[in-house]
Formats: sequence, C-alpha cells, structure tokens
Amino acid sequence: MNKKKTQNFIINIIKKDLFKKKYKIIKTRFPPEPNGYLHIGHAKSLFLNSYISKKYNGIFNLRFDDTNPIYENIKYIKSIIKDIKWLGININNIYYTSNYFNKIYKYAVKLIKQNLAYVDKLSKNKIKKKRGTLTYKGKNSPYRNQNINTNLKLFKKMKKGYFSEQSLCLRAKINMSSSNIIMRDPILYRIKYNLHNQTIKKWCIYPTYDFSHCISDAIEKISHSLCTLEFIDNRILYNWIIKNIKIKFRPCQYEFSKLNLTFSILSKRKLKFLVNNKFVNGWDDPRMPTLSAYKRRGYDNNSIISFLKNININKQENIIDINMLESYIRNNLNINALRIMGVLNPLKVILINMEKYTEMILMLNHPIKKKMGFRLVPFYYKIYIERSDFKEKKKKKYKGLILGNKVRLRNSYIIKAKKIIKNICGIIKTIFCYYYSNTLNKNQNGYKKNDVIHWVSKKHYLNINVNLYNYLFKKPNIIKKKNLIKEINPFSLIIKHCYVEPSLFYFNIKKKYQFERIGYFYIDNYKYKYNLIFNRIITLKKKIKK
Ligand code: ATP
Ligand code: MG
Repeated sequence: MNKKKTQNFIINIIKKDLFKKKYKIIKTRFPPEPNGYLHIGHAKSLFLNSYISKKYNGIFNLRFDDTNPIYENIKYIKSIIKDIKWLGININNIYYTSNYFNKIYKYAVKLIKQNLAYVDKLSKNKIKKKRGTLTYKGKNSPYRNQNINTNLKLFKKMKKGYFSEQSLCLRAKINMSSSNIIMRDPILYRIKYNLHNQTIKKWCIYPTYDFSHCISDAIEKISHSLCTLEFIDNRILYNWIIKNIKIKFRPCQYEFSKLNLTFSILSKRKLKFLVNNKFVNGWDDPRMPTLSAYKRRGYDNNSIISFLKNININKQENIIDINMLESYIRNNLNINALRIMGVLNPLKVILINMEKYTEMILMLNHPIKKKMGFRLVPFYYKIYIERSDFKEKKKKKYKGLILGNKVRLRNSYIIKAKKIIKNICGIIKTIFCYYYSNTLNKNQNGYKKNDVIHWVSKKHYLNINVNLYNYLFKKPNIIKKKNLIKEINPFSLIIKHCYVEPSLFYFNIKKKYQFERIGYFYIDNYKYKYNLIFNRIITLKKKIKK
C-alpha cells in the first residue's frame, strides 16, 4: 500500500495562515449542486474539506449550491446527505445558498447603486456574441450605461416577475476588454420561473454561481474556499465581488486538481446521460462511480476513506489507476469476508466409491481468523465442480483436475478423475472420480498441496443469481472520448446462476462473502429468501476474467 507521504499543498497554506494569525478559526465547506448523486470525485473534495476542518478543530459546512431550480431536486439533497453520512463524515452545519437569497439580492442592489452592475436587455445569444473571444475583445452592451435609477427599477421589476425568462439579466460592469473573458461583464442574476425546492415561489430571479458562491463563503466566514482547477479564471471575479460588495469577511479561493479514475467517468452530466439513456440501471447501478453505487455493490466506507486519504492534493491534472481504490476494497474484504463455496459453471462429479449418504464437514469461516467461527458443509457422492477446473489432458501450470490425476476438494478429500462421459456434442457431462476417504484435511503421496478446487454438493446446493460486474468502459482512459456509447463494455454485466453451499442460510445474509476462488459478493436489494441476488463486489485478483 501507499507508504509515501501524501502531498497536500492546502495544508501548507493553512499552516502559514495560522502562523500569521490570518484566521481565528479554519472553516471549510463542500458545495454540491443538488442535481445528481455524489461520485468518487465529489468525495475527494468532500473529504479534503472535512479533513482540513477536523485537523485544525475548525468547522465544516455542507452547503447546497441551489441557484438553478431547473435541475435541482429534493431527492438529490436527500441522497447527498445520506451518502455523506454513510462515508462517516461529520458535518457541522447544513446550509443552502437559498438561505442567503435576501442578502445576495441586497448586495446586487449595492453594486447597482455603485454603478457596478446594470440590467441588460440583450438576448442571451447577443450577450454571448458580444462577449468576444480570446483573440477579440468584447463589445459594450447598449444598456451598459443606463442610469442607476433605471437599473434599480428594472431589477426590482425583475424580482417582482414583470419580465419573461431570458428577456433581461443583471450584469456586473467590469471590463469588456479584459483578457480574462470571465471579467467581461459577467451575468449576476437571471430570471427563472421554475419552482424552487426550498424557496418554492418566493423568487423568480436567481443569482449565478459566480455571484452567489463567494458571497455565501463570506457570510459563512469560510477561511479556505477550495474548488477544482476549472475555477482558476473565476478567482479574479470572486475577489472582485467580495471587494466591491464591501463585506467584512474576505474568504480566499484555492484550486486543486480534480480526481480522475481509470475506467470511470466523473462528470455529473455524462453520468446523467448514462442513467437517462438506460445504459445503466439508475444512479446506484453497481457499475457507476457514485457513492450509492459503491455502497450497493458492497464497497465499505472505511476503504474509500483510506483511498481518499492517500491521494495527493495538488494542481496537476492526472488520472489515478482504479486498482488503487480496488486494492483498499479487496484488502478489507480479505480480512473481513466470510468464506463459502459456490460454483458458477457446474460440472457434475460422481464419487464412485463413496457411500450414498451425506457427510457433514466442519469448515472454518475464515482461513486465518478462527474467531469468525465454523460451519458444517454437506458432502455427498454427487458434487459440482467448476467446468474450468477440469481438463482431459495435462496443461502447463494447470492446477485443476486432470483425467487420471488427483486434486484436493477444498476443505475436504482428495479425488482422482477416472472416467468421463460426454454428450453428443462432445461436451463433458459427468466425471467419475475415486475419492480417498482417509484424506480429509490430511495429505497423501502423489498429490501437490496447492492443487485445490471448490465444489458444492449436488443434493444440497442453493441456486442463487449473481451479477458479475466488469468495468463499464472498455478502455482505461475515457475522459476525453467524445462518443461514450462506443466505449461501453458489452460485458460490463453478466448475469448468471451460482450453486452455493446451503450455509448461506445460517449466516446473516447481509454480510459480505468470499465465494472461494471466484470473488467477493454482497447481496443486492434483499427482498425474500427464495430469490437471492448477489452482486460481485470485486474479483480476487487484479485481472478480471470474463
Ligand atoms: P457540474 O457543476 O458540472 O454539475 P460538478 O461535478 O462540478 O458538476 P458540483 O455539485 O458543483 O458538481 O460539485 C461539488 C463540488 O465537488 C465542487 O466543489 C467541485 O469542484 C467538486 N468536484 C466535482 N468533481 C470533482 C472531481 N472529479 N474531483 C474533485 N472534486 C470534484
Ligand atoms: Mg460544479
């Protein structure tokens, strides 16, 4: 595991600020827009903000950035709170940008009164055209020099609902020739008639992210406002607004690089596309990189936190190998998952010299942790083994059963394959084996210790459904790919039956299991005992077998 010290440049900034006594208390916030579910990228920001406040005995706020009622929904608010709780992250306060709509409105009026904002009657398209490009300066709107009183009146009327959407907006009066396009009279308020999930019908004008975010930070006295690199150009506007509304507290914005993960898309817009177009079965489909999907799949919160703790916080865009996250998940499961046996592709084995009665074999639930207890597993003269665990002829490095050779049945006896029967298509139907009754957990000559295969009794197995998940995308780096659909892995979900030991019934069904030699499994949305569906959390080794 990662033994190197994790880099975090924000910590160095805070240390310096504390040394200079710049702030009395360190305050951070996580500002999701409630228009989707949280993904592992959000969790990076969430964890970073909460970690910093905790480290310095500060305050950590969750603030819903709810300034666009079109896409926001109470169901996302609920899911975000639920996911944060599941991760085990403590929140000091839950706020909404909409809590500050009155104050933000007053600051807008304050800017108008200083002749630093104006109501523009240009259409959205015209505003965009006149904004210019990196090589062309922007052009002033004909309404830019409207007098202050007209602006105040129009803004009041905008608030009262006199105008249709997109007919007017409030813009800051900064500099249409600025080399930073963001400073070319950015929009501060726009008209929207959708119902808002918090303020319902109270408002029909909403502040933009740029206008509301810095003011909310200042109101909450956020000392370090951390955001991702794409906001670097907005920082100058952030500071311009804070300076000109003349608010006492001056928060500072710092940017860090987003989390990118191989085989994963961490863009809400693209994830929404996958959900809406049914490429996955909802936001919590176990192939999604959302926290709710990870939870449903069987990932544990502590391993996710360990992963988040060990990723560097810097300004370099990079992509992290998903194996890093998976190794935390796998290590935890290796220590904590109960072991049982299950067969995915059954091949019948008849033990020709065994009496036709059931023997109960005592097995450890975990190979090392004895305190996880024992179970009794039925052994019968007819069993199933995995089809891939038998070969007619010897193959290099092959460790399964070979015709004429011996193998150990996991936690049980050594058997030797004597004869096979095939169907008319040449597919093996049954293997007849000899079993060595004195080899229960004892060794024997002519048999290699490591050749062990799993099995289930044909008379006693439980038939369950399993969802075998692979990566949703075929290639590791899909961030910049334009056509996502082309990149989707057609084998990302394979649904199969699995014959498992009846022991599953004695255990708490909601525990996590290792189906020996197959992978780790966790029950999916448990409904009733006779239709069990298990999700494969992760394979045992790095390489995924299809
Ligand atoms: P969009 O704004 O396009 O809907 P978003 O992913 O930025 O998507 P927000 O709800 O605005 O969604 O994000 C909340 C916070 O999470 C922001 O501070 C944002 O910078 C941060 N964030 C989003 N994606 C990542 C990521 N991949 N890595 C780290 N932080 C992220
Ligand atoms: Mg955003």
